[in-house]
Amino acid sequence: MKKKALVTGITGQDGAYLAELLLSKGYEVHGIKRRSSLFNTDRIDHLYQDPHETDVRFTMHYGDLTDSTNLIRIIQQVQPDEIYNLGAMSHVKVSFDTPEYTANADGIGTLRILEAVRLLGLTKKTRIYQASTSELYGLVQEVPQSEKTPFYPRSPYAVAKLYGYWITVNYREAYDMYACNGILFNHESPLRGETFVTRKITRGVSKIALKMQSCLYLGNLDAKRDWGHAKDYVEAMYLILQQDTPEDFVIATGITTTVRDFVKMAFSEAGIEVEFKGEGVDEKGYVVSCSHRDYQLVAGTEVVSVDPRYFRPTEVELLIGDPSKSMSKLGWKPKYDLPMLIKDMMTSDLELFRREKTLKDLGYSIKNQFE
Ligand code: NDP
Ligand code: GDP
Repeated sequence: MKKKALVTGITGQDGAYLAELLLSKGYEVHGIKRRSSLFNTDRIDHLYQDPHETDVRFTMHYGDLTDSTNLIRIIQQVQPDEIYNLGAMSHVKVSFDTPEYTANADGIGTLRILEAVRLLGLTKKTRIYQASTSELYGLVQEVPQSEKTPFYPRSPYAVAKLYGYWITVNYREAYDMYACNGILFNHESPLRGETFVTRKITRGVSKIALKMQSCLYLGNLDAKRDWGHAKDYVEAMYLILQQDTPEDFVIATGITTTVRDFVKMAFSEAGIEVEFKGEGVDEKGYVVSCSHRDYQLVAGTEVVSVDPRYFRPTEVELLIGDPSKSMSKLGWKPKYDLPMLIKDMMTSDLELFRREKTLKDLGYSIKNQFE
């Protein structure tokens, strides 16, 4: 019998890579997508199967983590062996603008999934993965951060995820459910949402190299993150649900890098050397040299500037994870390091904007007709 997985947040970065992984392992994959006025399935369109085909292994259901009855109905219908709860309002900065909605979707949404499984009598059948986050660590208590490090969340997003974390632990202990947290540190890819800092940088640098944009505006360049590749991290999610006993795991690379260094590495990938001058909000990045034959950037050009609008009311300054438990117990090991991740993202974004530029140069409008 094929195993069945239900993935919330399937239209997101991780949902797309996880769906690919599970399909490659022979699973029947069901995803929950939100209704939106524009298509929101770009990342998974290549996996779509016409429901009229025989042997359909990829099915989408309309739903929302804020709607219990909808979740109960889908879980009852699918009877999944595994649920991966990846759906969330996942942007830290935006969570300060929409704190109540974030609590509802990210915190109570997790409860709704656990409670649906319990109410439907599936506690012995269905294993649950909860997408927990390194943002739980927030204000630095100790480094590197491990499964034993105390939490100190610093945003409405992290506080909502803290509830998701503990309700998962509580249902595991109270009802003997196979429910686990993956405490994942930041992971990125060419599919990363455009407003997260890494993707904003690789898109911005690509546009600057192609002369489609002059300057990239960023917030706190001193923040340090432990960045890995999403492809590696979805492997860990899968492994977490294949163990004999349910446990929580930190997934990280163990290496931390500043936003400023990520910017330099992204420019360097395009053959452009950049130096930073100034401090705090006056900090700016200037081109030192450009060795790429296609991108002619003049030394001294200002290409990065700090804009305080991207600062957060409370910031998480330093994240660095200790992945030793996942490496020893799960046998998990990332294949990508940071330079490989940046190369993957830069290659993809340069290609994306090269195409866009070519169309523009040929006179095709790529702008929305209402702009
Ligand atoms: P994305 O933002 O790319 O994807 C989030 C997904 O959740 C999207 O499919 C989105 O749908 C969906 N979603 C949002 N709100 C709701 C809702 N109310 N009901 C149902 N679905 C909803 O995030 P990632 O793929 O990067 O992350 C996956 C999970 O892992 C998230 O829970 C995130 O918080 C967590 N996480 C991510 C980390 C990272 O570095 N990427 C680190 C640690 C944890 P739509 O496409 O319609 O917006
Ligand atoms: P987060 O770690 O989940 O908040 O992921 P982000 O990619 O959104 O942010 C990572 C870090 O980059 C945070 O410390 C941000 O403050 C910092 N940062 C600096 N400039 C920016 C920016 O322009 N956008 C975003 N999203 N983050 C920025």
